[in-house]
Amino acid sequence: MANIQRRLPENVPGDFFVDSTCIDCDTCRQLAPTVFHDHGEQCSVYHQPETDAETQLAMMALVACPTGSIGTTKKQNARLGIDAFPSLVAENVYFCGFTSESSFGAWSYLIVRPESDGGNLLIDSPRFATHLVRRISEMGGIRQMLLTHRDDIADHQLFATKFGCERVMHADDGARNIGVERIIMGEKEVWLDDDLLVIPTPGHTRGHMVFLYKKRFLFTGDHLAWSPARNSLTAFPSVAWYSWTRQTESMSRLLNYDFEWVLPGHGDLHHDTALKMRYHLQSCIAWMKTRR
Ligand code: SF4
Repeated sequence: MANIQRRLPENVPGDFFVDSTCIDCDTCRQLAPTVFHDHGEQCSVYHQPETDAETQLAMMALVACPTGSIGTTKKQNARLGIDAFPSLVAENVYFCGFTSESSFGAWSYLIVRPESDGGNLLIDSPRFATHLVRRISEMGGIRQMLLTHRDDIADHQLFATKFGCERVMHADDGARNIGVERIIMGEKEVWLDDDLLVIPTPGHTRGHMVFLYKKRFLFTGDHLAWSPARNSLTAFPSVAWYSWTRQTESMSRLLNYDFEWVLPGHGDLHHDTALKMRYHLQSCIAWMKTRR
């Protein structure tokens, strides 16, 4: 729970506030950009919600915040935020909300599909929150858990135990050590089923992978995201823990695939035509090469 005594001075006066425990994961800004902004090393409220829609988005940010850093001075209806998750992104793809501090607020996603199509997929791990677990159960549980890399695994063990799902992760990110059932090796792509492709993308970490679903949705972990400031796809050189050069090479490999959605763990998501995504990807690769 956010603490009013720790209210950041950067917040504008009013009901909603961010306290000093904020870790600057950016989730609140992405969810409610008319309410929260990044003022430097942390986020704060720069505009108090005025409409019902703004209040709901602010409550979703409150629920999704990994550190419980968002609070209100008046009593608000918590269900506004809680019941909104999993929140539809497009078609059968949902954002789980309830991010985890152990993965620095990384976003995780749920793909809902019939058992005959392979069942539901969880991409990276959210917080093992009671409400979210119940909602996922109601939506059909989890058949497979796809882990992009070691940083965003959060409560994977609790989800695996609860739903009996198979976890998929790369050997080079320690999959064996954490008991993962299906371990990916090497750098060749692997089809998990007719709609689901695993693409190893070493760089951010040695065993980082992205997942391409239906040749439309690319779940990118910490490999690739959208930059509103540069109006382009981007990557993060300051956190290329394994190798920026390798990450640039991995990015070039993605030119072999079409996709219309980039759904990252950190950074903004983005939707566009496959043609424009290719253009943005080429721009990103050219930019990455200047950062060596
Ligand atoms: S979601 Fe929470 S931790 Fe993340 S930037 Fe907002 S207030 Fe800070």
